[in-house]
Amino acid sequence: MGNDKMNHSKLINGYELEMFSPPCDPGSPVWVARVKTDAILGPVMPYLNAEVKNGFYDPRIPTIVWREGAHKFALRDSTISINNLKDRNHAERVAKKAIERINDVWERRDKITPDQTTRIPPKLLDVLRMLPRTNCGKCGLPSCMAFAASLIEGERCVEDCPVLLEDEMTENLRNLREMGL
Ligand code: SF4
Repeated sequence: MGNDKMNHSKLINGYELEMFSPPCDPGSPVWVARVKTDAILGPVMPYLNAEVKNGFYDPRIPTIVWREGAHKFALRDSTISINNLKDRNHAERVAKKAIERINDVWERRDKITPDQTTRIPPKLLDVLRMLPRTNCGKCGLPSCMAFAASLIEGERCVEDCPVLLEDEMTENLRNLREMGL
């Protein structure tokens, strides 16, 4: 298990990183990292919510999930989950950047207007309705239902379904993106 010690004035000063296969896809070549930090992350979430685009934020839990580049980041309690990682080195690099970002937002919080707006992830059936529903398996999952669940969990991206990238699915793809997926 990795361990990194950082400057003690920051919100997150240390973490441990665990890798695992997505639960819906054991043995997958892509990995998910669970980064257990030494900080309670709830207080930084309204500031992150003000800065990230299309994030899902639920202050009642609290939890925040957002997508950036090829990855989805999910914060809850003291843990950051990150999807779509090639290997441990890749995970360490992406985790370090995410922690730097969170620490940076925390350090600038007196200049950021916190955003307490609740935005919760779409429902499974609403996502499924926007998928091709052919269960072709090209995404590496056995069904569109499994793909819908993995989208909501942040373990897959819409681009992982090649059928969605075809011209006739443009409208569905746009709707899924508007849902923040
Ligand atoms: S590739 Fe797309 S259409 Fe095929 S099973 Fe996966 S989600 Fe469904």
